[in-house]
Amino acid sequence: TYAIEIRDLKKQYENGFEALKGINLKVKKGDFFALLGPNGAGKSTAIGILSSLVNKSSGSVSIFGVDIDQDFAKAKKYLGVVPQEFNFNVFETVFNVVVTQAGFYGIKRPLAMERAEKYLKLLDLWDKKDTQSRMLSGGMKRRLMIARALIHEPEVLILDEPTAGVDIELRRSMWEFIKKLNEQGTTIILTTHYLEEAEQLCRNIAIINSGEIVENTSVSALLKTL
Ligand code: ADP
Ligand code: ADP
Repeated sequence: TYAIEIRDLKKQYENGFEALKGINLKVKKGDFFALLGPNGAGKSTAIGILSSLVNKSSGSVSIFGVDIDQDFAKAKKYLGVVPQEFNFNVFETVFNVVVTQAGFYGIKRPLAMERAEKYLKLLDLWDKKDTQSRMLSGGMKRRLMIARALIHEPEVLILDEPTAGVDIELRRSMWEFIKKLNEQGTTIILTTHYLEEAEQLCRNIAIINSGEIVENTSVSALLKTL
């Protein structure tokens, strides 16, 4: 079974706009996968459907063989999602943002606190644990989103434009962090509109444009064609 299998996925928004025109994608367990495409291509729509924040119009999505229509509660345990927009409660402390998330997965408080400490330390946010999250810089907020997404130690981490608006130094350290997670076995899927980001980090790549997958190959094969 694949980590993610998407079959003929379509999304038409209320206003009639077709953001996904029937995409097919398979991502293997352990892969480091990029969904590359320009703004408006449909990347966030696809991520939104995977994390059930957006309803699909048709098609199917399975996560480790679990169809999201059949058992989303089970499927979502495999996934950690880092959306593009900051969506934590800005008045909560950094520590509580992460611990609160654990509640959605039925993780008991002592374990939640232990993991929050582990991931906040790994993401270099531990000294900010008692700070209200609204006080953080953009880069720190981004790292907080990642720590929160890891609280249930998901098999697959999905990052929507993780380095958008992040300065070059932090971008490098985020790349290193994500690479290490992948080396430890976490399947990574990221969306980006930078070819450079995809080629430096990822193993496999799908290129999406106007709601259609126009290329789906390994990064090394793609580079040979350029
Ligand atoms: P990307 O993440 O690749 O930039 P999106 O998935 O955000 O692309 O958007 C794909 C297309 O769908 C864009 O043209 C966008 O304007 C449109 N779109 C996104 N959300 C909505 C919505 N709620 N209603 C109508 N159109 C939308
Ligand atoms: P947007 O228009 O930016 O999607 P919404 O107010 O519609 O904002 O959605 C609120 C945000 O809260 C969503 O983007 C979603 O990522 C986040 N959210 C909602 N429920 C949860 C949850 N259980 N765990 C994590 N994030 C959540």
